[in-house]
Amino acid sequence: MQQLTSINSISFLRKDTSKMKIIAIGRNYINHAKELKNAVPAEPVFFMKPETALLRNNQPFYLPDFSEEIHYETEIVLRIGKVGKAIPEKFALSHIDGIGIGFDFTARDLQNKLKAKGLPWEAAKAFDYSAAISPSFLPPESFTDLKNISFKMEKNGQTVQQGNTKDLIFSFEKIIAFVSRFVSFKTGDLIYTGTPEGVGKVSEKDILQAFIGDKLMLETEIK
Ligand code: ZN
Repeated sequence: MQQLTSINSISFLRKDTSKMKIIAIGRNYINHAKELKNAVPAEPVFFMKPETALLRNNQPFYLPDFSEEIHYETEIVLRIGKVGKAIPEKFALSHIDGIGIGFDFTARDLQNKLKAKGLPWEAAKAFDYSAAISPSFLPPESFTDLKNISFKMEKNGQTVQQGNTKDLIFSFEKIIAFVSRFVSFKTGDLIYTGTPEGVGKVSEKDILQAFIGDKLMLETEIK
């Protein structure tokens, strides 16, 4: 009886394909790497957030009790539309089925402590609701050039971050090709492609609005 129960639960886990993962790229804009005094990497740096990190549907972000310094990082987000492993660069764009925007909320105080000790960043990056995602995605075909997507973030009506994918150190193709050598992609996975300079602390009552071009895509109130 005991054995049957455990077999059933394994097969349930394997059949459950609703799980997705979030890949995030660190240090992918030169000026952001410089503002945090990080070296510009020779290869993409990536980390992961679990599904429980998602903050959807413009829901508010509640400041957690374990950090005094939560930063916003505004990032173009790719949604993966088909499975793939070790995807060649020349086919990489065909794996993207949506372009969105998100906030990679980061407990900067915790991250600095972990970095100083050379430890992994999960406590600072993977916590619940740390990955705000736009309610909708734009089809890749709606862009004339994926290497020229401008985006910005307004905090309380003031532009605090402005970026363009032409300034990415590692292009979408390079990110997908590199990461998929190590980690297979599944449908619905998200890739946060890195933040430009201008990251900063959020405070209670801040309103963060992220735009692709001039289109408002994501709004998050800090509580
Ligand atoms: Zn980030």
